[in-house]
Amino acid sequence: MGEIIIENLNKTFPGRSSEKTKVISNLSLHVKQGQTVSLLGPSGCGKTTTLRSIAGLEIPDSGKISIGSKTVFDKGVWVPPHRRNIGMVFQSYALWPHLSVFDNVAYPLREQKVKKDDIKKRVNEVLDLVGIGHLHNRNPGQLSGGQQQRVALARSIVSEPDVILFDEPLSNLDAKLRKQMRIELSELQERVKFTSVYVTHDRIEALNISDYIAVMAGGCILQYGTPNDIYSNPEHPFVADFIGEYNLLTAAKEIRSNVVETSFGALQYGRVKDVKDPTTVFNYANFVIAIPPDVIEIGNFSKYEPNCFEGIIRHITFLGTSVEYIVQIGDQKVNVMTTRDQQHFNQGEHVLVKLPPEEIVLYRYSKAGITADAEAAVAL
Ligand code: ATP
Repeated sequence: MGEIIIENLNKTFPGRSSEKTKVISNLSLHVKQGQTVSLLGPSGCGKTTTLRSIAGLEIPDSGKISIGSKTVFDKGVWVPPHRRNIGMVFQSYALWPHLSVFDNVAYPLREQKVKKDDIKKRVNEVLDLVGIGHLHNRNPGQLSGGQQQRVALARSIVSEPDVILFDEPLSNLDAKLRKQMRIELSELQERVKFTSVYVTHDRIEALNISDYIAVMAGGCILQYGTPNDIYSNPEHPFVADFIGEYNLLTAAKEIRSNVVETSFGALQYGRVKDVKDPTTVFNYANFVIAIPPDVIEIGNFSKYEPNCFEGIIRHITFLGTSVEYIVQIGDQKVNVMTTRDQQHFNQGEHVLVKLPPEEIVLYRYSKAGITADAEAAVAL
């Protein structure tokens, strides 16, 4: 298995008018041997184009891509997909419907002219590895979605590729099966130690299966880090919102050190981050406040405590083990996540809301530039 190094990748597509649309912008990424790195971001941010560029299914405008010791794309260099020694797993499974499970998985080995006995041994091994050895005679049409995805997985690892590229492989499965396959995929990765890039727009999936996550927007990497880093220390308001489901509020100005003026009063905050946004897709206010929903308290405290404000319960969602309240404070709304055993409130009830200063991040936001984390992605 190898590593993947992407340096300063750029890709444009023809737009509606004569000008081209930039979909990947100076993207750099280093996936080390045996690591799983997720490309996580909203629809249209360039995840699949990046993955397809690694696979050789898309020709970038500029940049450099290496897989293992081989440069597969550079100025004057372009190695076709079948010579890149990669495995791919697609959302749609992409199995041959007329071939049995065994023959689907054997297909890449037959293409490589591997000896018949070796094919049999290797295919049976990987089918057992993904837990579907007993289904080897069936055709894909006789399998469930989860079983079909296991066949696709077996086919991607059977020829021991340098890297495996996953393009939203679990999106077609129901929630329960998706969770089960996520766990199985992590366990398989532990055993086989494949190097992989995993495209998803599902934050839970990325947090679960990745060694590192590259959060993308507008063809750029906004933040690169371990799941824990990204969840607990988002460097950009979009990352705070997308990964942590933080509340984003706006402030008018800084009043003094650690205090900003909001439409509902002066607010103390604990940390500040200066964000230079390399994308052209966001339009945040100059001062954005981020607060995780599970640290906000609702109750009967003194209004004179720091960061306590009057609010009205506007909506309640019962989620089983937790209860989510939408509380209006002045003209802004916050999501508050409480556990089932905490005090309950009613819709329309006037409450006091405490926003713990130490949990609040102020993003001083400005356009253009590149975050230190995105630059660090290639150095890791
Ligand atoms: P999704 O999660 O919806 O698959 P994505 O993050 O994978 O989104 P890409 O598929 O990489 O995004 O697409 C990035 C942008 O490039 C999108 O705006 C898309 O419309 C555009 N795009 C992709 N392929 C082409 C193409 N062949 N021609 C023109 N535009 C394209």
